[in-house]
Amino acid sequence: MRRVCVYAGSNPGSRPVYAEAAAGLATLLAERGIGLVYGGGNVGLMGVLADTAMAAGGEVIGVMPRALIEREIGHKGITELRVVESMHERKAQMAELSDAFVAVPGGIGTLEELFEIWTWSQLGLHRKGCGLLNVAGYYDGLVEFLDHAVGERFVRPQQRGILAVASDPAELLDRLAAFEPPAVGKWLERPDQT
Ligand code: AMP
Repeated sequence: MRRVCVYAGSNPGSRPVYAEAAAGLATLLAERGIGLVYGGGNVGLMGVLADTAMAAGGEVIGVMPRALIEREIGHKGITELRVVESMHERKAQMAELSDAFVAVPGGIGTLEELFEIWTWSQLGLHRKGCGLLNVAGYYDGLVEFLDHAVGERFVRPQQRGILAVASDPAELLDRLAAFEPPAVGKWLERPDQT
């Protein structure tokens, strides 16, 4: 993997453990020579990711819509800040630049971005791995719901299998590096055919 896209909250969350985990992931990316692609902000966990990866000598590319530069404070101290015209352009560039996608704790923006990129794999628009860094059980309820959705046959087991979930950043990166997409022919099967 040359670059990993990390979706992260624009807030730091209620407990230091969230920032510590984001920093841990950023340090690991830099140590492994993997560039960080993210939303370009200098707030919340986004800021922690960027600052930590830069301090560790990593490459950091931020992609931010012009309209958000003030609200999310476009980060001036990263390798490259790409200013784009829309949210759609932001997400498309982040996807193109990256070889895998990770969500750390965040709010609905983070969830939207992860779910969109995960659904793109369902449509065969990319064949890259997606992961959830489940810090301090933050995503336990979501993971439980996703497994429920598989049980109820609204989500295919193969599709669920594309999303790696781990609480340890090193384990998550190892799994994304080893990710092999399911065979193309199996990609678009409906749940009741599997
Ligand atoms: P949040 O997880 O809500 O704190 O938001 C984290 C990041 O997601 C911020 O950089 C937001 O600008 C971004 N975001 C929010 N909504 C969207 C969206 N619909 N598409 C892409 N990014 C979004």
